[in-house]
Amino acid sequence: MKPNREPKLIVFTGAGLSADSGIPTFRADTGLWADHDVNVVANGMTWRNHRETIRKFYNDRRDNLASVEPNDAHRTIAKWESLYNTTILTQNIDNLLERAGCANVIHLHGELTKMKCVACGNVWDIEYNQVQEEDRCGKCNSLKGTRPYIVFFHEPAPNYAKMHATFKDLRKEDCVVVIGTSGEVISVDAHIYDKPCLKVLNNLEPRRGINEAYYDHALFGRASLLSKELDIIVERHFNNLRSNLHA
Ligand code: NAD
Ligand code: ZN
Repeated sequence: MKPNREPKLIVFTGAGLSADSGIPTFRADTGLWADHDVNVVANGMTWRNHRETIRKFYNDRRDNLASVEPNDAHRTIAKWESLYNTTILTQNIDNLLERAGCANVIHLHGELTKMKCVACGNVWDIEYNQVQEEDRCGKCNSLKGTRPYIVFFHEPAPNYAKMHATFKDLRKEDCVVVIGTSGEVISVDAHIYDKPCLKVLNNLEPRRGINEAYYDHALFGRASLLSKELDIIVERHFNNLRSNLHA
């Protein structure tokens, strides 16, 4: 018999969560990839050849991040974290979940407000500051080794191990909420399609990379506007569990 444990809430988010705050997603027609070549600004094999473009691109992302605020969907997730046994997995590199009050966020693809040095492994906070051409690693003084603390394409993502562990052994009483992801970078469906838990999806519209048939609830529309509805579904699920327990 499996040991008793508290029911889990897993929140898995993508760029769509922050879209209503004013951070463009990557894949929309007006998204970031429409103006920037992903092969230049997020390619783990060639980033050394494009230091200047990358420096400017992520400086602009930090400028954008400094000027926006969390939306109701971020705040709802922070509320869930305070109420339930919650794990938050995000593909987002912004810090809006933390700014909404989330204490533990697993960033699967790195963080915009940090830099790293591949020469010595140093990672440091830069907040919303602009990185200058001459900025060096504070630990080993490397210039060429410094880069954004972001997982580029073709690179290993160390936090995927935590994601795999989180999605393992899901039970009927657990709940997974997926918000604002195209499913093209991480196939979240592959992690949850055969799991017995409650599965809830919110995307702007149906996507090729996400099959809504795998979800018990599929809500299409803007995350900030649907967060109340998502909250009702999640609250009902955990309230039902509690009343069954006391019945
Ligand atoms: P994506 O751009 O591939 O897909 C965005 C998804 O969000 C789509 O499914 C779309 O339907 C949905 N969406 C758009 N607006 C929405 C809204 N207002 N409400 C609800 N859903 C909405 O994003 P992805 O799947 O996260 O993959 C993109 C990659 O790019 C990630 O790996 C991430 O690291 C990076 N990225 C991060 C940010 C950020 O940190 N905010 C922004 C852009 C891209
Ligand atoms: Zn260094």
